[in-house]
Amino acid sequence: MNLNELKKVVADAGVVGAGGAGFPTQFKFNEGLDTLIINGAECEPLIFSDYYIMKKEMQQMLDGAEMVIEAMKLKNGYLGIKEHTAERLGFSDGQKLSAHVVVHVLPNVYPMGDEIILIYEVTKRIVAPGSLPFTQGVIVSNVETLYNVANAAKGIPVTEKYVTIGGKIDDKCRKVVKIPVGVPVSELFAYLGVTVPDDCVVIDGGPAMGNIIDPKTYHVTKTTKSFLILPKHIPAITGKTTDPDNMVRRSSSTCCQCSMCTDMCPRALIGYPLKPHKIVRVVNGEITSNPQDYLAASVCSSCGVCELTACCQGISPRMVYTQVKKSLAKNGLRYQHDGSELKADPQREYRMLPSDRFMARIGVAPYDIMPELTGTVSFKPSSVYLPMRQHVGKPAAPAVNVGDVVKAGDLVGKAADGISANIHATVNGVVTAVSDQAITIQCD
Ligand code: SF4
Ligand code: SF4
Repeated sequence: MNLNELKKVVADAGVVGAGGAGFPTQFKFNEGLDTLIINGAECEPLIFSDYYIMKKEMQQMLDGAEMVIEAMKLKNGYLGIKEHTAERLGFSDGQKLSAHVVVHVLPNVYPMGDEIILIYEVTKRIVAPGSLPFTQGVIVSNVETLYNVANAAKGIPVTEKYVTIGGKIDDKCRKVVKIPVGVPVSELFAYLGVTVPDDCVVIDGGPAMGNIIDPKTYHVTKTTKSFLILPKHIPAITGKTTDPDNMVRRSSSTCCQCSMCTDMCPRALIGYPLKPHKIVRVVNGEITSNPQDYLAASVCSSCGVCELTACCQGISPRMVYTQVKKSLAKNGLRYQHDGSELKADPQREYRMLPSDRFMARIGVAPYDIMPELTGTVSFKPSSVYLPMRQHVGKPAAPAVNVGDVVKAGDLVGKAADGISANIHATVNGVVTAVSDQAITIQCD
C-alpha cells in the first residue's frame, strides 16, 4: 500500500491516536521521515491495555507498523517498552520483531511515554520546544493505534477499545477488556461487578494525568485507556481536587525556592526552557527579566513530576503552569524556540524518576497488580453514546437521522474538512438521538 492509499484507509476507518492524544493518524503520515517509534511505554502506572495487545495481538500490531514503515519508506522502526514490560514479554534490547521493527528497552522511569522524552531516549534527538516529532524525522504511534491501522487496511473501522479496569477493587474485577466505544461506564461496571467505594473516585486515564469522571454519566471514547478506582485521600487524587486559584495563592506563601521542581522536571532535563520554580515566583507578582520563562508554560507536558514528587511544600507548579497556559492560549501566545542548540542535562540520568518510587509517592503502589487479560466480553450495553469529537481537531458531522437502523461499523459521523476524524456505529441498533455534539444508538 502506498502512502496515499494508507492515508485513505486510515482516514476512512477513523483511526486516531489511541494513547490518549486522539490526533487523527493519517495527518502524521508525511514524506521525508526516517523513523517510526512505537510507543509501548505505557507511561502511567496501573494501565495494562497496551500490554494486552503486545502479549496477545503482537502480530497484528507489527503488521500495522510494517504498513506504516513501508508506505512512508522509513529506515528504522523501534518498539519502545520499559524494562519490566520487556521482562514480562521475554524481549531483550535490540531484538528483531519484524522486517524493520526492533525492541528498544526503556528505563523504568516516569514519564517515559511522553513522546518528546521517548524520542530522546530512543534516538537522542531533541524535538525543539513547541515543534512536532516530524521535525526530527520521527513519527510516534501508540501500540493500539498501529493495531487499528492494521484493522483499517482490512476495512475494519475503529469501533472497540482495550480498557484496563483497576485500582482499589476486588481482584476478580481487575481486567483488561475489549469493549465497544460509547458504552456507559455504569453498565460496564455493573457487568464486571465493580463497585466504587464512597471513599474513592474514578479516573479516566492514569493516576497522574487522568481526570476524575462521574461513572454514572460517562462513556468510553476512542481515547479511553483505563478506568481506575482510587482513594480520595492519596496524593494522586488530592491534587486533582485542589482549587487552582487557591494553589496559586498558597504557592506565594509557602514556596521556599528550593528549585527541586526544576531539577526533576523531565522536559527541563532534556533541555526544555521550563523553570517551574520561576513560574511560581512570577505568578506571585515578581517581575521576570525573561518573558520566555512565562511563555515556556506552553511546552509543559503536565506530567506532574514537579507537583507529585519534587515539591516538599505541597505546591503544584503544574497547576500554576496550567493556569498560565490558559491565559497564553486566550491571547494567542506560545513559546517560540530561537533555534539554539538544545542539550540534555548531564545530571539527567541521576535525576530521572523511577516508576516504583513514583507509584509509592503518589499512593498507588498497592494497586500495581497485573489484571486478568480478558479481552472481548459478552457485555451488551443498552445504548452507546458517540460524541462527534473524540479526537483533536474539528468535530465530525452527523451522517444519520433519528430512526435510522445501523450496524456496527457503519459511518455515523463524517470527518470535517481539515483535521478531523470519522465516527462509526459501534453496535447494531437504532439511532435515537442526533445533535451536532453526539449520536445515541439504542442497541438491538
Ligand atoms: S519544589 Fe516546591 S518549594 Fe521548591 S521551588 Fe518548586 S514549588 Fe517552590
Ligand atoms: S508538569 Fe512539572 S515536571 Fe512536568 S513538564 Fe510541567 S513543569 Fe515539568
